[in-house]
Amino acid sequence: MFMFMMKLSIKAAQHLQSLVFPYACVLCGDTMQSTQGCCASCLQDLKVMPKFSCLSCGIPLDASLAPGPCGTCLNKALPQQQTRHLYLYRGKVRDAILAWKLQGQDMGMQWLLQTATQQLTSIFSPHDLLIPVPMPLYRMRRSGLHHSADLCQNIAKLTGSRVQWQILRRKGDDKRQSSLHGKARQTNLHKAFSLADNHQDVLSSLDTRGKIWVIDDILTTGATLRHACRVMKQTKQPIFAFSFARTWQDS
Ligand SMILES: [Zn+2]
Ligand SMILES: [Zn+2]
Repeated sequence: MFMFMMKLSIKAAQHLQSLVFPYACVLCGDTMQSTQGCCASCLQDLKVMPKFSCLSCGIPLDASLAPGPCGTCLNKALPQQQTRHLYLYRGKVRDAILAWKLQGQDMGMQWLLQTATQQLTSIFSPHDLLIPVPMPLYRMRRSGLHHSADLCQNIAKLTGSRVQWQILRRKGDDKRQSSLHGKARQTNLHKAFSLADNHQDVLSSLDTRGKIWVIDDILTTGATLRHACRVMKQTKQPIFAFSFARTWQDS
């Protein structure tokens, strides 16, 4: 009887608290009754990567064609062994990424990562090494943040894997990719990454029983991740690639 009364009073206190400080959806900010993080409308809008995809580049494929390789990968093999993505870059996922990257508000991103813990632990093991795609210095100075490194730290917290951000370097104050087109964009990226001189010493001092992942937040054309992986392949280790979200038209 005492326990029953206790439960009732806790419930009543929570109800009163929700009237004074209503729970807000972590993605849209709307008030909601429950404490579950995200409202029903946002939950419905969330798009995760479809189950069947090309193992090499990660694009969604018909179940009969998975795990690929897809036509593009057959024509030209990628430097990375595998590419994995969590979400499709659209709707509320896109909003959460932009709030994180442009306004430094990471509540939505944190929730999207925590919600994907089971999926993340199926991708990353505690032996794995996470290498963030380095950011041009001028962009890091402007935002004060390094988004792919931040993402790596959060994934490492959830999966037990480790982060190494000193091996892969970004050279110079290169021009913003979106201001370049076609060949100029490729040439710019081709020269953008390099390995630290002591990369072999660093790698041999680490447990490399797991996979080495190159991690980026958003994948659009895949060119940045591909060039970063190509340079990482000079370590003579198999390289894997991951992005938090990727753009995709047909789903
Ligand atoms: Zn919402
Ligand atoms: Zn492919």
